[in-house]
Amino acid sequence: MNEMRYQLNLLKAMNQKLAAKERMYHMVCDASAEAFLYYSFEKNEVVTLGKWHDFFDFEVHDMKEAAKLFDAVDESCLLKLRDVLFLEKSGEASLTAECLMKDKKRWFRFCANVTYDALGRPEEKVICTSDITKFKNQNEELTYMAYYDGLTGLYNRNYFVRQLGEFVRTAKERNSVVSVLVIDIDDFRKINDGMGLVVGDELVQQFGSFLKELCSREVIVCHLSSDVYCMAIYEPMGDHSVEHIHKTIQKRTREPFCLSSGQELQITVSIGVAEFPEAASSALELMKCAEIVMFKGKSTGKNTIRYFNASILNEFLETVELENKLKEAVFKKNFVLYFQPQFYAGNQKLRGVEALVRWREEDGKMISPSVFIPIAEKNGAIIPIGNWVVEQSIRQYSAWRKQYGVSFIMSINISALQCARDDFVDSLLKTIRKYQVDPSDVELEITESILINDFDMVSDKLKQLHACGIKISLDDFGTGFSSLSYLKQLPIDTLKLDKSFTDTVLTDSATRVITESIINMVECLGFESIAEGVEDEQQYKYLHAIGCDVIQGYLCGKPQPPEELEKLFQKAFTA
Ligand code: C2E
Ligand code: CA
Ligand code: CA
Repeated sequence: MNEMRYQLNLLKAMNQKLAAKERMYHMVCDASAEAFLYYSFEKNEVVTLGKWHDFFDFEVHDMKEAAKLFDAVDESCLLKLRDVLFLEKSGEASLTAECLMKDKKRWFRFCANVTYDALGRPEEKVICTSDITKFKNQNEELTYMAYYDGLTGLYNRNYFVRQLGEFVRTAKERNSVVSVLVIDIDDFRKINDGMGLVVGDELVQQFGSFLKELCSREVIVCHLSSDVYCMAIYEPMGDHSVEHIHKTIQKRTREPFCLSSGQELQITVSIGVAEFPEAASSALELMKCAEIVMFKGKSTGKNTIRYFNASILNEFLETVELENKLKEAVFKKNFVLYFQPQFYAGNQKLRGVEALVRWREEDGKMISPSVFIPIAEKNGAIIPIGNWVVEQSIRQYSAWRKQYGVSFIMSINISALQCARDDFVDSLLKTIRKYQVDPSDVELEITESILINDFDMVSDKLKQLHACGIKISLDDFGTGFSSLSYLKQLPIDTLKLDKSFTDTVLTDSATRVITESIINMVECLGFESIAEGVEDEQQYKYLHAIGCDVIQGYLCGKPQPPEELEKLFQKAFTA
């Protein structure tokens, strides 16, 4: 009897233990973010646990009913799901499948585990289901970001470089050619500045979509930056030859782009082309070469296509070298000022001198400003150089003024970038005060290019300086757009006729007509006229005869160092 009671108690205790265990398993399953389907082959019985009812709106009591899962997933994933649900047919122990659901939004991961007995017969199976939508979306976004450019949907730079690298590798093996085109929208900055970034972006997008249409197995395109695209063509020929693609681009750009605001925008593009193996042998070098050629084309006019050749590369490398040397020269202040005299055509008295900067290399060689000023204007070095010129020329003038007790004019060339600086007016006036110079002895030579970007800002500054007595001279007149209307709006005292007029005034009758009418106009406006580059007596006589006020050129004196000029002063001022 005792024995029976003991057995009963034991059974009870074991049952309680089992129930506790089952409760625990249920709790664990319910707490997990997954849904479970348990199947016992022996009992042909299905139990669903965990988040089953959150994921699915049907019950499953046996494996036949589990087939309802096929209705829940997208058609594209049916086979994957079948392999997981009936994993025992393959004899494998586990398998996972990621399936898109019927709503085409959610993604579920199904993971099956099967146990087998000693004879290889399946005993139990668990299918664990989790919602991986969030993870999938993030992953897709990451994949997208790794390969594509968000704005245009074209390849991004990194992926493009990789793909171009593949093209080059194959071309090396097969002795074939790869063309790389850098395509840049002309005047994009004007569009961005004038119409706003949103318009700029939409244009970049639309042109990008057009380029995408040209893509194929042999043609790939990426959005490099802002308004620059890069295309690579494997074995260019026929429909995907550079010429054909160029024609297609030109045909498209002849039509306007219609923006969502209703505006229509017409563009032109500049293209640089570099080819493997001729130009370079790596993806990045090819892209660089195509870019250099594109910039070269742009500098001589827009709407162009330029092909790489070695001389363009050499020229570029020389410019880069010069640019680096120029930076060092700015640091070491390796510049000197030369001065070129200007004389009144009538009485041949000295009117003044123009300060012309020279770069003195370590070995004493002088580099002409026409070589380095354009570079300095591009890389910003003109600011420290220009400041130095202003300081040195005014300091030198002040010393001469004291030494000889005579006033004349010190002309200083000013670049657009210098004039655009906020502190331009203040710092110039400060220097003039510092050296106790009369502002009316200082003349600024500006060119029309100074007026292009912000006419009002420049004219305001010039008016302020003019009000203080400083003279303003318009340099190289006749080479730009030479509009008379703005001449009247600016406080101009002097107009310098470009050297090209002096050069041909005796030989070309058309030049004579223009020169005479400019001199007349200058007189009517009350400005002073200066002829530049006068090299011989006849030129001087003619210019004097037609009423030109001042003469500057090799005939009366080359640009020279201060010591040389002082000899001239000795004669002019002490006689
Ligand atoms: P620019 O202002 O038109 O200066 C006149 C140029 O013509 C000078 O060249 C001068 O040496 C040259 N020249 C003068 N008379 C004759 C002549 O009879 N025959 C010939 N063949 N040439 C003559 P340079 O000194 O080489 O200067 C070139 C340009 O560099 C200048 O043209 C000016 O635009 C720029 N530049 C020079 N110094 C400065 C400066 O300090 N600041 C800025 N921003 N630009 C400067
Ligand atoms: Ca000048
Ligand atoms: Ca000039």
